[in-house]
Amino acid sequence: MPHCTFCNVERDENDFYMHSSHKVNGREQKGYTCKSCSDLHYGDTWYPIEGYNEKCDISKRGTVRELRNGRYYNITYVQNAGKQYVYLSKGDKDMRKNVGSLMKKYIYKNQI
Ligand SMILES: [Zn+2]
Repeated sequence: MPHCTFCNVERDENDFYMHSSHKVNGREQKGYTCKSCSDLHYGDTWYPIEGYNEKCDISKRGTVRELRNGRYYNITYVQNAGKQYVYLSKGDKDMRKNVGSLMKKYIYKNQI
């Protein structure tokens, strides 16, 4: 049974709040986070990222989630140096976006 990445609670796959899916050596590796751990580690306030093909939100913690098939997926990648980035697309162009600049653009503009 799937369990939360942070607190280890076991739940049905559909009862988790945040999902993740990464390809590791060609195999899909899934991750799950319950609602309270997601609020604690990823943030509980989300701001919409506009202008991309994906339907995404960003939190003040610098986590980006994508709404896909009615589920939230954490699509944030963390680099060795702790820098975070996401892959987004616009039209038929794929882009790698720095989470710091997305935060500036989509969070702080909402607070002025
Ligand atoms: Zn948890």
